[in-house]
Amino acid sequence: MMSGVAAGWVRKMLLSIILYTFVLCASAQSTNEVNTSDLDNLYPLPKEYGSLSYEEQVRALQARLQRNPSVAEKYRLMREIAIQHYQNGEIKHILPICESNPPQSFDLHFRLLCIDVSDADYQDIIEVLLLLYNDALEKGNIEVAVQSLSYLAWKQSSNGDIDDAFQSYEQALLHAEHVSTPVLNDITLNLATLYIMYGDEKYKNRGIALNEEVIRRLRTFRKKESEPTEYVEEVLQNIYFNLGVAYTLHLFNFDKALKWFDLVDNEDPELIQSVLVFSSLAHAELGEIAQATEKLQRSFKVPESELFKTDYLKCYQQIIQIKLKLSKQIEHCLQLKKSTPLEVKLDVYSRMVEADHMSLRDAGLSAFYELYTEVLRPKLQLKSIKSASNAELSRLQQESKLKGKLIEKERELKRAEQEKGASQTQLAFAISTILLLILMIIILQLRQKHKLAIQFEEMSLRDRLTSLYNRRYFEQNIERELKIAKRVNREHLNHSLGIYLFDIDHFKKINDNYGHEIGDRVLIEFSRRVNMSTRDTDILVRWGGEEFVLVSRFQGIHDFHLLADRILESINREEFDLGDNLTLNVSCTVGAMHYPFYTRATQDDTDWHQLIQLADAALYMGKSKQRNCWVCIDHISAAAEISEISSQDLEVSVKKNNVTISTSLKTN
Ligand code: GH3
Ligand code: MG
Ligand code: MG
Repeated sequence: MMSGVAAGWVRKMLLSIILYTFVLCASAQSTNEVNTSDLDNLYPLPKEYGSLSYEEQVRALQARLQRNPSVAEKYRLMREIAIQHYQNGEIKHILPICESNPPQSFDLHFRLLCIDVSDADYQDIIEVLLLLYNDALEKGNIEVAVQSLSYLAWKQSSNGDIDDAFQSYEQALLHAEHVSTPVLNDITLNLATLYIMYGDEKYKNRGIALNEEVIRRLRTFRKKESEPTEYVEEVLQNIYFNLGVAYTLHLFNFDKALKWFDLVDNEDPELIQSVLVFSSLAHAELGEIAQATEKLQRSFKVPESELFKTDYLKCYQQIIQIKLKLSKQIEHCLQLKKSTPLEVKLDVYSRMVEADHMSLRDAGLSAFYELYTEVLRPKLQLKSIKSASNAELSRLQQESKLKGKLIEKERELKRAEQEKGASQTQLAFAISTILLLILMIIILQLRQKHKLAIQFEEMSLRDRLTSLYNRRYFEQNIERELKIAKRVNREHLNHSLGIYLFDIDHFKKINDNYGHEIGDRVLIEFSRRVNMSTRDTDILVRWGGEEFVLVSRFQGIHDFHLLADRILESINREEFDLGDNLTLNVSCTVGAMHYPFYTRATQDDTDWHQLIQLADAALYMGKSKQRNCWVCIDHISAAAEISEISSQDLEVSVKKNNVTISTSLKTN
């Protein structure tokens, strides 16, 4: 998303990127992924097909559908029709296709396309995107994985979840070197947008610079290719428009805005209308009444279609009419959709609050107040709950200071509201202050994020000695794993996680007897052996010292125990060869926890700290009984207190029937 106003446009850009990769991957898909399925055995569509117009293609495909095709052929045809509609912006025809012909789980691109046209709730879309990200990673399709993250980030930012959006971008950028230029451009532009919308002066300029960098990259690309691809043109046009909007709404440099708008040369009526409306606004801001009026008039003449995604152009037209003293109507601004990006609403309502007319100010203030109580306040509250468990202490302190003021101001606001006839100016002042404080919180978070990003670059995600991932990597990935496990478990049976904690036995003695360097070699060999017993999708990290954590996915409890056995076996199998003719018998103890352990209907708030605590309790039991063994917690009864289990001896909880365990311990 570029700016809130341009959101619809960047969404379109995403479409063109999806299509771009469709074309790139079409052959790869049918030779690799679909190899095992019937799809691969279908005859290719006739060659002439490619030269037909959009309508002819759809008709030809539909005619084939009438001829009783096989299941695979029907799937292929429906998918092809959906792509044709997509390429031609006929979005409304796609949703029914996705519903009657849902994408196969291996068909990652089609899945992404269907998510893009879906009208599901925000939360559902977020979860489906996470699943897609996960599946794409598992299949090694980094391109789709990153596209899902990028789309996820866009969804989060237009929903006002700026923090989450930044996190998704960070995650996406980790894969940056493995994705194509269009996808990289997409992430860069989206990130630039967040800078422009929420950043201070420095960040705004950085956002502009990033946009210009992508323009340069695309123009060079255009020069190199003999025929400019549609994708490059489309993206360039969108960036020009987006920069115009950025200068109009966020940097208030209206001359520059107009220069960018002038570069847009496109036939799409929605883009034409958007450019006319926002250049009219820029002219009006510059006091150039004649040009503003002329562009506004032209914007009314653009033929509209129900396909227009933007519901706020009409509202901006009214805002300009008020500015030009042509009318006082504002109803379109008061009817903005729920799905309209938050920053559009903030911009529109603050313009209303600043208007000359009392009635407009009133309407703006109530719209603002509603937005604040319904959207912003719950977000702030949620944020504070999240932050409570966050280690970013300094940020927390800053935020709470600001929030204190915020609450104070809110009370003021309520008092002002109760006193009938109280001065409107006071109310306006209170609301503007709230807005200012919210923006300050966001800017603060942005700075903090930037600092984190630098630290992130400095700190590797890997442990130097063993080359395993470190705790930081674990923290970045575990929540997603839990979320997926929770969600998949709700829908299908038999998907669960094992969280293992292992600790080398009597490691101190090895250090004491043979020296620290030999201790290090033991750690390296130990890590190598455990790593060999795990899969690529597992999370294996050095937790600290001679402790390791492993998170692995299963289809049943049997596999959960089997892996614990396999780890012990890999360590016990043969002595550790530590060079210099030294061999040693090394062993370790494993404590593990199975997740999820609640029945599907139970509300599950377990977090990873608790799971590690439980695994630790199991490890402790193994250490105190025997060592060189495993203890697995299979199940915890819903009534049991997790904190109680981890603070007391695990055996006590087992005796009380609160916990079921399995172990390799030999009974005496
Ligand atoms: P237990 O079976 O109860 O686990 O006994 P232990 O001797 O392993 O006990 P403990 O976990 O307390 O000992 C951990 C030792 O690991 C202490 C610390 O000096 C050593 N250690 C931690 N990190 C490193 C490292 O990077 N290299 C080496 N060589 N030793 C380390
Ligand atoms: Mg230890
Ligand atoms: Mg130890």
